[in-house]
Amino acid sequence: MNRPIIRALAASFTLLFACDASAAAAPLLIENVTLLSPEQAQPLGNRYVLVRDGRIAAVSDKAIPLPAGAQRMDGTGKYLTPGLTDAHVHVSDAVGLPFGSSDPDLAALEKEFFAQQPRSYLYFGVTQVLDTANRPDRVTVFEAQKQHPDIYRCGIAPVVDGYPLVFVDKAIRHTFFNDYIFEPANAREHPLPAGANAAEHTPEAVVDRIAKSGALCVKVTLEDGFGDATDWPVMSAETLRRVRVATKKHGLFLAVHANALDMQRIAVDGNVDLILHGVWNWNQLNDSQGMPKVIADHLRSVHDRKIGYQATLRVIPGVTDMLDPRLLDDPVFAKVVPPRLLAWYRTEPAQWFKRQIFGPNIDAAAVVAGQRAANEHWATSEKGMRALRHLYELGQPMLLGSDTPSAPTYGNQPGYDTYKEMQLMVQAGIPLSAIFAAGTINNAWQLGLQKDYGTIEQGKIANMLLLDANPLASLDAWTRIDKVILRGEAIDRESLAADAR
Ligand SMILES: [Zn+2]
Repeated sequence: MNRPIIRALAASFTLLFACDASAAAAPLLIENVTLLSPEQAQPLGNRYVLVRDGRIAAVSDKAIPLPAGAQRMDGTGKYLTPGLTDAHVHVSDAVGLPFGSSDPDLAALEKEFFAQQPRSYLYFGVTQVLDTANRPDRVTVFEAQKQHPDIYRCGIAPVVDGYPLVFVDKAIRHTFFNDYIFEPANAREHPLPAGANAAEHTPEAVVDRIAKSGALCVKVTLEDGFGDATDWPVMSAETLRRVRVATKKHGLFLAVHANALDMQRIAVDGNVDLILHGVWNWNQLNDSQGMPKVIADHLRSVHDRKIGYQATLRVIPGVTDMLDPRLLDDPVFAKVVPPRLLAWYRTEPAQWFKRQIFGPNIDAAAVVAGQRAANEHWATSEKGMRALRHLYELGQPMLLGSDTPSAPTYGNQPGYDTYKEMQLMVQAGIPLSAIFAAGTINNAWQLGLQKDYGTIEQGKIANMLLLDANPLASLDAWTRIDKVILRGEAIDRESLAADAR
């Protein structure tokens, strides 16, 4: 069978599941709950919320009569919030497993990972995700699981030989991946690949294909190399301008991978909609303390141009966490990682990425003792925290995006990493109310999905959380989830755990 047919079949199965769920779900009445909806200045006590056909049908301060056949849920002493949106994930990647291995045991582990992945997001209250670069077949697998967050995607459009194609074998990178843009400014060193049709790799043609694929956004990458490296090809300002015009024409938003000051400046000059990483590489200013004027000026221009900014504070710690010998003993790992995969993470072959990053003879204890030093080497997410706090003080709306997994590190686990991203935001000095807004109403607006998500109001999709504690009083309320309500279906949190099966 050819691939489009397989995809169409898979899509119709997905549709069947979706229909089953909404057809089967009886109306749900949540009674006497404290409502936390981010457009409200205060929590609203003693509220009644009726859900019908997967959407919020009514919100009232008076008791709503129980409709025939409805399920009743007592909200006394509990908090009802919108489900969280993590607006930067990669569901195509089986966390920690090597890419493209032919080992059947690893293939089995990969399958178990993909079956659990959507449940792990739900386990941490994430009911919507934006995948910023993916393989559509893996998105289909995600959606084929019985319980999964609503998923949206960006199509990625790197330049010839640019990041992330730089990590794919040169012989196959442009056949394996077709939505690349030919950059005339790089033509001498990075010409159009042999056999490619130039007309299919203009900014307009690539954006057109991505729009037709059903994506919400286009992602381009401004990355000339990690750390101090500068030899990867990037897009010219003129090409970025053409991408900008084409995305506007198709009603897509334009997201940019950039984490270095010089690269983010190109993004700002190009009037992009969303920068997908915090500015943690300060180029020649990497040794600076405090807030250097050029960084402050850059952040001011991000804010003035109303460009969305995801801090993605977990990217660097997600890698250095692998050096912590107790990491896998964290009991939460058993909740989000299938048992056999967790056991494999402890084996020698599972340390392949750690060896690749830190060298074959790592003295983990020494590196952990010098974790600060290691962070310095990585240009540190501590700088990212300072930048985020500065933006917050400018009045920038906070966004939530964990970049899970940012690399093949088992330190970035679905759902858990979203929560850890919020923990780092707290550490950066962001108030709990701003973090709440980030994961709900702000992400919904940034993605253009505010009609469906972000608040608890009539007409919105009924993706909500019933919590045992108030997330405006302590962050760990996001781990005290009683029920995940997914399109009106109430799910016990523990039934979603990886060790529940
Ligand atoms: Zn990413």
